[in-house]
Amino acid sequence: MTQRTSVAIVKGPKSPTDNDIDGMVREAVTLAGGLNDIVRQGATVIIKPNLVAPATPDKGATTDRRVCKSLADQVRELGGRPIIAESSCIGVDTEESIHASRYDELREQGYEVVDLKGCPLVRVPVPQGKVLSELSLPQLVMDAAAIISVPKLKTHDQAPATLAMKNMKGILPDVLKKKFHTTYGVFQAVADLNTVVPPAFSVVDGIIGQEGFGPVFGTPIELDLIIADRNPVAVDTIAGLVMGIEPASMEITTRAAELGIGPMDPKSIDVVGSRIEDVRHRFKLESEALAEELSFPDGFELLFNEKACTGCRNGVLSTLKDLADEGGMDAVKNLRIIVGGMDSPPSPDAFRRTLLVGACTAQYRHLGEFVGGCPPNNVDIIAAMKQRPCS
Ligand code: SF4
Repeated sequence: MTQRTSVAIVKGPKSPTDNDIDGMVREAVTLAGGLNDIVRQGATVIIKPNLVAPATPDKGATTDRRVCKSLADQVRELGGRPIIAESSCIGVDTEESIHASRYDELREQGYEVVDLKGCPLVRVPVPQGKVLSELSLPQLVMDAAAIISVPKLKTHDQAPATLAMKNMKGILPDVLKKKFHTTYGVFQAVADLNTVVPPAFSVVDGIIGQEGFGPVFGTPIELDLIIADRNPVAVDTIAGLVMGIEPASMEITTRAAELGIGPMDPKSIDVVGSRIEDVRHRFKLESEALAEELSFPDGFELLFNEKACTGCRNGVLSTLKDLADEGGMDAVKNLRIIVGGMDSPPSPDAFRRTLLVGACTAQYRHLGEFVGGCPPNNVDIIAAMKQRPCS
């Protein structure tokens, strides 16, 4: 796609009110070209927030419901039927996320908010896919006339940011979310997915973003920004630059650009509204947060294999943070934790305990201690960490 596109950046006032947020979203949508040719009379438009896990709005982990409300209102005003639809991460009850992030208040006000985990699936070919040839996706999404991706501006332990295209992974059934990590490789699979369900519009919620241990346990950071565009590659590129992340280091963006979904060269993207340099805030990445915020004892090592997905990563990071908060990091002295499927067994280590976490590591359970489950239970992970600390 060589066509130029205009990404809108709108900076709002500090601690914006509901009216401020509605105004910011409307301004960004208008600057980015408007919804008029996307919303047809009577047609369904899926509004896809990021409700990865149950988290209250102040945490910066989930899309602010007021951004989705503004978009739903705009779709209604154009005669469409907005449906806010999401499926939380593997093993998480979406209804708990809907409640924690206060989307149930939108339901009470008459907006449709749907848990995609309960929806019937249809088989969808992926003709342009490099690693996918077919997917089972929710019929509700495939029958919609358009999708608006509404991600949060936040870091991700692998990506290194989770934005408009990564947000589309949330429409998958859990079994496919898992296979994206364990079988296909999440970066290319997400790029492939965006060839069959390309968002017609993307609106990034940067009111309260999240840095560090994203996408769930990071540090909230108030920026009061909305970033929007029709092209998901362009919007992810500009949102990444606002976070201080170079496009070339964003694997999903580079692979989607290779597939022709959109441009990732900033020179071929117009920015309207605020300038990047005026709103840029360098987000702390997970690796930096790990080094700074958690002080590990001697001999501790944490290995996230490439195939480790959000379920296990979140479980291990949150238990380590709990352990640090209770002053119990001595328990992980001389411990190596290995997470995610591996093509070959871990090398032997005579001097340290080895803890294998998650069902994906089960084939090597004889090589250390093992916590099963997919995802594993945090209580079991922390109990295994605390077992027989080596001195
Ligand atoms: S065991 Fe962990 S890494 Fe493997 S699929 Fe389940 S949650 Fe993901």
